[in-house]
Formats: sequence, C-alpha cells, structure tokens
Amino acid sequence: MSREKILSNHPNPQDDDPKLRPSRMSEMIGQRKVIERLRIAIEAAKKRNDVLGHILFDGPPGLGKTTFAHCIPNEMNVPVEFLAGPSLKAPKDLVPSLTNLQSDQVLFIDEIHRIPKAVEEYLYTAMEDFRIDLIIGDGLHARTHNVTLKPFTLIGATTRAGMLTGPLRDRFQIREHLDFYTLDELTLIVIKNAAKLNVEIDEPAAYEIASRSRNTPRVANNRLRWVRDYAQSRADGVITLDVAKSALQMAQIDELGLDRQDLKYLETLIRVCMGGPAGAETIAATMNASADTLVDEIEPFLLRIELITRTPRGRVATAKAHAHLGTGGDRGGLFSDS
Ligand code: ADP
Repeated sequence: MSREKILSNHPNPQDDDPKLRPSRMSEMIGQRKVIERLRIAIEAAKKRNDVLGHILFDGPPGLGKTTFAHCIPNEMNVPVEFLAGPSLKAPKDLVPSLTNLQSDQVLFIDEIHRIPKAVEEYLYTAMEDFRIDLIIGDGLHARTHNVTLKPFTLIGATTRAGMLTGPLRDRFQIREHLDFYTLDELTLIVIKNAAKLNVEIDEPAAYEIASRSRNTPRVANNRLRWVRDYAQSRADGVITLDVAKSALQMAQIDELGLDRQDLKYLETLIRVCMGGPAGAETIAATMNASADTLVDEIEPFLLRIELITRTPRGRVATAKAHAHLGTGGDRGGLFSDS
C-alpha cells in the first residue's frame, strides 16, 4: 500500500489521474536534472536521519509538480497530506494538518501563491522552527499556547512563482522550476501510459499524439484517453497512426496542438480585430470569455509557439499565425467557410 493512503481521511483533491501518475521518481520521464538534485537531497537527509528540507516547485500546469509530491514521500517512505492553497482561508484551516503531523511527514500545498497573508505568516514559524501559536478560548479567556510540531517537509507548488512573497520563497531550501517536455520524452510517456490503460499503440501514433500535446504530460494523457475511446469505438481498439490522426481531427486538435478555443482566439484576433493590436478585454468580450481565461489558459501557449506577440498596445497575430491559418493576404482563408 502506498504511504499516502495512510491518511485516507485526506484524499488528494487534485488527483484525477491516479492510474497514470508515476509513484516513484524512477518511473518519471524527463526532468533529469531536477530528479538528480532531489535524489541527492533525499539521500543526504536519510543518511543524516533528518527531515528533508522544504521544497518549492514552480512551472506551468500539467508538468509534474503534483507527481513529484507523490513520488518524494514514497522515496522517503513517509506519509503525505495534500492541501489546496485556495481552501486555506485562515490559519485555523491549517491547524489540524499541522498538529496531526507524523514525524518527517510531507505536507503538500498546491497553488501555494493563493494562500492569504495570514496563513502565509502562520506558516513561517511552522516551517522554520516547527512550532505554532494556538489561541484557545475566546475574548478575555483567550490564551496563546506555543505548540511544538513534529518535523515535516512542506512541498509547495505554484504556477505563479512571481506572486509568492520573498519571505515565503526564502523559507524553501530547495526550489525547482519544471520545464516543458521534449517530443521524445512525451512520446515515451504516451507509450507507457497506453500500456497502463491496456491499449495497444504503435510508435508513429504515439509520436503524433505527443506532437499535438503542447509539450505537457497532462495534455498528452487527455489526448491519449480520447484517442483510446475513439479507437475502441470507431476502430478495432488498436491506436495506429491513422486512428490517432482521425481521432484528433474529430476533436479539432490540429498539428500544432491548437484546440477549438485557441482557434477561436486566433480567429477573433485576425478576422475581427484585423490581426491586432487588440487588448485582452476586447478579444475576451468578442469570444464571450473572461480576460483571465485568455491570459491564464489560452495565451501562454500561443505566445510560446510564437503565434501571437504581446505589445504595449495589445496582442498581435504573427506572420506564423497568418501562415498557419492561411490568412496571409486577404485574411479570408480559414475563416471564410467556417
Ligand atoms: P502539475 O501538478 O504540475 O499540474 P501533474 O503532476 O498533476 O502536474 O501531472 C499531470 C499528469 O502528467 C500526471 O498525472 C502524470 O500522469 C503525468 N506526468 C507529469 N509529469 C510526468 C513525468 N515526469 N513522467 C511521466 N508522467 C508525468
């Protein structure tokens, strides 16, 4: 039984992927340097018979932050509890987790940039000295008790490292940034995960799925699940290159990995806003979406693959975007028949 299940009253709220998630670092693909550094820290802590230092992971969604938080406790052979930053509204929300810690346990806080200031400050002494102040009673009868905690490792994950305050960031002894995966790494993940899902896949098909998965394992898993469903419902259950291509085409995921939302964004920018510059609010209003969705979920990938640029006057579609959508000259192209 994996140790995290010991805390069965604290299921990981993030884990929508238990079947595909590696549980040991040796099963993880890519992130070699990060894994190497973590192995050294883990080995040294074990040799010293000491608790592992607090670790902060930052990087875009779906790259393995939560996966590390599953693997590290398994390597240390300690239990883990998973908390979501947004659910920690006041210090009292953190108290049960801190006072019930087992020695050397891991506490994982996802989206740690979203905890309020008061919770963050409460964490300072917990992280640094393994103690907290507990206020017991109300009003005149309130008493402060200084409580010593069991030594523990805090693992924080954030998609927005810049939003973390300096004092919190500095309390993490180990800080790791997770980067995007290469096509070869992602192809390997697709092949391994197809086996875990008990579906046969050939290598060109795995490569095709990987190449449309934005260098992100979570996206690759989602695409693979869809292609598996398609193969089982429309073909003989085997994922060949043709099956993968047809499935992805049906889901309207193109060769660059763009999905319907991305294409709608580009259509709005190119056709409605004449290629830009256009502000996020303008594009969002036309798309009937929120500017936050655009900024957090759609634009990072379009910026990364250079289909748009951000200028002081707004977003601009690049020549690559026009070429990809066939809207170079008259800007009719792709959209004229859609
Ligand atoms: P994050 O917490 O950064 O949003 P996750 O750790 O939840 O991302 O990763 C999403 C999924 O991608 C995992 O469930 C796992 O299946 C897969 N994954 C992530 N990183 C790796 C890796 N290095 N090797 C293999 N699979 C991975």
